[in-house]
Amino acid sequence: MNKRTFLVSALLAATVAVTSAMAPANAEDKPTQVLIVNVDVWDGTSEELKKGVDVLVEGNKIKKIARGIKAPNATTINGQGGTMTPGLIDMHQHLTLNGGTAAGNKWDAYVQGAHASRAAEYLLRSGFTTIRDIAGMTLGLKKAINEDILPGPRMYVSGPALGPTGGHSDWATRVDGVGHQNYQQKVGNTHVIDGRAEWLKAARWNMRNGADFLKVMAGGGVASEFDPLHLQSPSPEEMEAAVQVAKEYGSYVAIHAYTDDAYLKSLKAGVRSFEHGFLATEKSIKELKKADAWWSFQPYGGYALLCGAYPDWYTDVMIKKGKMVCEGVVNAIKTMKKYKIKTFNGSDMFGWDNWHNALVNAAAPTTLLPEDLRYTSLETMKMSTSLPGQFLREETNQNRNDFIAAKLGVVEEGAWADVLIWKGSPIKDVSLILEEKNLQMVMKDGKVYKNLLVDPEHESFRAAPAPSGHSFNM
Ligand SMILES: [Zn+2]
Repeated sequence: MNKRTFLVSALLAATVAVTSAMAPANAEDKPTQVLIVNVDVWDGTSEELKKGVDVLVEGNKIKKIARGIKAPNATTINGQGGTMTPGLIDMHQHLTLNGGTAAGNKWDAYVQGAHASRAAEYLLRSGFTTIRDIAGMTLGLKKAINEDILPGPRMYVSGPALGPTGGHSDWATRVDGVGHQNYQQKVGNTHVIDGRAEWLKAARWNMRNGADFLKVMAGGGVASEFDPLHLQSPSPEEMEAAVQVAKEYGSYVAIHAYTDDAYLKSLKAGVRSFEHGFLATEKSIKELKKADAWWSFQPYGGYALLCGAYPDWYTDVMIKKGKMVCEGVVNAIKTMKKYKIKTFNGSDMFGWDNWHNALVNAAAPTTLLPEDLRYTSLETMKMSTSLPGQFLREETNQNRNDFIAAKLGVVEEGAWADVLIWKGSPIKDVSLILEEKNLQMVMKDGKVYKNLLVDPEHESFRAAPAPSGHSFNM
C-alpha cells in the first residue's frame, strides 16, 4: 500500500470509529468491518505469537483471524508488523477515591466525578480496555460509559464498599459520633454498617443501583487510621449476608484483607475474589487452592509502595501498619506461587495524579519484585488479560454481567474487539508497555481511541494520553 492509500484507509477507519460511536447499534444495521493487516497476534494464552496475520473486526467483535483475509468492504488499518494483544484488564481500581482517606476531602462529589471521568479516559487510552472498580461511587460513570456518553474502559463496579464501624471503610474522624456520616459515605464511596439487617440492606442497595459485584472490607487496612490489621470484624453473619445478596443477583463478593483469619472467614462465607493477602500464610492459602478461589495481586501498590515509598498523607499509624504488611509480603507471594493460586493483576491506584502507575503495576511482576519472586513477561501479561477475563466470565452469570455475550481478555474469533497494537512483543518483554510510544493503537468495542499508526499530521491520528498534570493537596 502506498502512503496515500494508507492515509485514506486510516481516515476511513477514523470515520468508522466516530460514526459507530455516535449511532447506537441496531440489529438491522449492516455491521461495519475493519481489517487490521500485518500484525503478529498474541491471543492472551499461547506461548507464541501468530506471525503475520490479519484480523477482521465486524461491529464490536473479532470475526476472523487468518493470513490474507479478503474483505472488500472493510476499512483497512496497517498494523505495520506490530504485536496485537488483548486490551489490558486492571482488576483493582478506585477511580473516585483520592489521597488522604483519613483526612476527609475538600472536593464535592461533582468534582470527584469529573476526575473519575478523566481517569477513565486516560486508562482506556493507556491500554486498559476493562477495569474493575472495587470500592467507590462509579455506578453512574459505568452507565455513562456503557451508553457511549463518556469515554472509558468497560467497567465492572462494586459501588460503595461494605464495612463495619471501625473497619477499613470507616474513615470518620476521631471526634465523629456513633452513626456519623463521614465524607466518603456522603459522596457514596463507602457504607459503614453493622448487623445482618444493615448489611443486607446496603448490599441490596448497591446491587439495585447497578453494582456488578460487592466489595467487603473483611479485615483491617493500611491506608486508614482506626482499624488494626488483625481486626476480626465484620462478623461471619455480616459476611454471609453480603455473599447471600451477591448470589441473589448471580454475582460474587471480593474482599479486602491481609490475614489468614480474614481469608478463612471469607472463604467459609463463600467469597471468590481475595485482594491483597500479604500476611496470608500456608494456613489460608492451601484452603484458597481447595476452593479454587482467586488472588488479586497488587505488585506495585501492595509490594513496592508498602515496602518503601509511603504516600505523603500517610499518618504514623498507617506507616506502622504498612511496615507490618511488608514483613509478610515475600512469604505470601512465594506461597501463592507454590500453590499455583489463580492470580490476576490489580493496581489499587488511588489519588488523582496516580493513574499512570496502573501501567507500572501491570509490568511490576517482572520489574519491581525481588529476583527470586519474579514472574515471566508471559505470565505477567496473562495476569492482565486472559486470567481476569476468565474470572469475570466464570464468577458472574448472565443476570449480572453486561459483557458476558463475548469473551474478554483474549484475541479470538467471536471475542469482543478490545485489542492493542504494540511496537515490540510484551510477552517477550512486558516492560515495553511502560513506554507510551510503544502502544500504537487502542481499540475497544470495535472503536479506535488511540492511533499512532498514521502520520501525526493526519486527522485520524489519535495522540497519546497525557498524565493529569495535577497534584491536588489535601
Ligand atoms: Zn483497594
